[in-house]
Amino acid sequence: MGTMEDTNSTKGGKVVTCSRTGMCKLLEERVSGFYFQVGKGLAMLETMDMTTGNLKFRGVVYKRDRRDKGLLLTFCPWCGQRPGDFDVAQDSKGASGT
Ligand SMILES: [Zn+2]
Repeated sequence: MGTMEDTNSTKGGKVVTCSRTGMCKLLEERVSGFYFQVGKGLAMLETMDMTTGNLKFRGVVYKRDRRDKGLLLTFCPWCGQRPGDFDVAQDSKGASGT
């Protein structure tokens, strides 16, 4: 079998993809603002770190209107990676097994 080329690593240019700490450029451009600011569209979700007091990037949600809780993006439609650190954000009941 030959070597498959990694589509994420483009030669000649650094491609920044979504990660636990941030968004790729394409997604960032389409995010309208912070969660509480956005009425409709993509919103950035952040939570306060209780120990440091700093805001921590959690992910990106799609909202239909201002009252909508929003739908969390589990992957970025543009780069295919996961934007945010939402694994820890979820309350894990029965983390192992089931
Ligand atoms: Zn992305």
